[in-house]
Parts: sequence; structure tokens; C-alpha cells
Amino acid sequence: MTTETVLRAVGVTKRFGDLPVLRGIDLTVTAGEVVCLMGPSGSGKSTFLRCVNQLERPDGGYLEVRSELLGWKRRGDTLRELSHREIARQRRGIGMVFQRFNLFPHLTVLQNVTEAPVRTRALPRAEAERTARELLERVGLAEKGNAYPGQLSGGQQQRVAIARSLATRPFLMLFDEPTSALDPELVGEVLAVMRTLAEQGMTMIVVTHEAGFARDVADRIVFMDGGVIVEEGPPARLLSAPSHPRTKDFLARVT
Ligand code: ADP
Ligand code: MG
Repeated sequence: MTTETVLRAVGVTKRFGDLPVLRGIDLTVTAGEVVCLMGPSGSGKSTFLRCVNQLERPDGGYLEVRSELLGWKRRGDTLRELSHREIARQRRGIGMVFQRFNLFPHLTVLQNVTEAPVRTRALPRAEAERTARELLERVGLAEKGNAYPGQLSGGQQQRVAIARSLATRPFLMLFDEPTSALDPELVGEVLAVMRTLAEQGMTMIVVTHEAGFARDVADRIVFMDGGVIVEEGPPARLLSAPSHPRTKDFLARVT
């Protein structure tokens, strides 16, 4: 069994103006691990994922992905900021799926999935299309390649968004409440795709309120509140016998 460290966050802090949003996050995620990040609205979950994906830059602490410092290069004792190009390279290894699918409405499903690898010249078009068809099959949408996003249900659109984020062959997938904008009857199909991805060994950090998914799929639940991790542990323990009162409160509301 591998224990490669995929993500290491050390003392990550972030504030927006006067508001401290992350107040020292320490988190290590190893290869193949599925971590569910739970906690009340405003606790900093999205901001943390956005720091991992370099959509935000921490004010303090640091993040490493596969032992590589994010956003900075060590030069002896000094740090140099990475260029946009170097940051783009680091970001390519990390896929992110948002609450809102943000598909390009004027592109077909297949074009949505091939867009990033073709634009970044990661793959020649023919190969990108072959990969895209495989990915659409994996998310159960092999027949929808020529459809436009507007012709699909929300659950189907989110599955396309997952396929799209897999197209650049990430080794770490971030999900930020991927089912919370969906009608209840469409949640299951998206969770099923995520579950399969987890079973295939993908390293995942999933922000979700879906306690059932967390119980079945997560290796570990990390509970955040007020910009800190208040508690973490295996789902069986955390969901049935949380030790922190804030975790108890939160779980009483979502389960
Ligand atoms: P969560 O995802 O846990 O609901 P967020 O990370 O989205 O929490 O937000 C944490 C806090 O940071 C909230 O109070 C939110 O209003 C604030 N916040 C998030 N992004 C910004 C921003 N770009 N500018 C100012 N405040 C922000
Ligand atoms: Mg959020």
C-alpha cells in the first residue's frame, strides 16, 4: 500500500479584510485517500479548497502537493513567486468540481470535455476526443457527446463537469458541494460517479453535507468550524460519536 503524501497543508491562514477565514489549517492527504470536509456555512471550506487549487493564496502557512510547494519556489533561504505559467502547470494536476457546473453552454458535451486538454495542448485533438469519450462512458453519458448542456438535467451536467475535470488527468480531485444545487432525485447519480472514482483509487477532498456518502465513501471526515479543524477521524466514529459539541450540533442538523 502506498503512503505517498498528495497534499500537505501546514498552518494555512487566510483573511478577507478584517475577517479571518482560515486560522491555521493543518491537513495531510495521502494517495488514494477520500477526505470529506464538513462543517457549517462560512467555516472556510471553500476557501481552503480554493487555496489548494490556487484560486486564492494563503496569507500564512503553506501548501505542498506531491512535495512541491504551491505558488512559490525555494531558492536556498529565499522564496520566489512562481510565474503564471508555473502556477498553471501546478493547477493542471488538480481537478475541481463546483456546486455550479459552469459548463460552456455553446459547446457540446464532447467539446466541453476536450476543451481544456486541447487548449493547453496537453493532448492532440484526436486523442483528447478519444479520452473524452472514455470519460463520458465512465460517468454514464456515452450517448450525450453531441448534446448541449442546456439539453441535460442538472445531474447529467454535473457528471459532464466531473468528466471535464478528469480530462487533464488530475491526481487530486476537489469537490465543493457538488450535489447541493441539484434536485434531490438527481443527487444519487452524481454521488454514484464520485463513489466509483473513489473506488478506482482517486485521491479526493469532498466538501459535502451528504452524511450517507461520507459514511460509505470517506476514509476520514474532517470537521471545520470558524476557520479551524475542530475534529477529524474515521466516519464511523465521527458520525456516530463526535466528541466536539460543534460537530454534534452540525450533524444533528444535516443527518
Ligand atoms: P464555506 O465554504 O465553509 O461556507 P467560505 O470559505 O465560502 O466558507 O467562506 C468563509 C468566510 O469567508 C465567509 O464568511 C465568507 O463570506 C468569506 N469570504 C469567502 N470568500 C470571500 C471573498 N472573496 N471576499 C470576502 N469574504 C469572503
Ligand atoms: Mg462553500
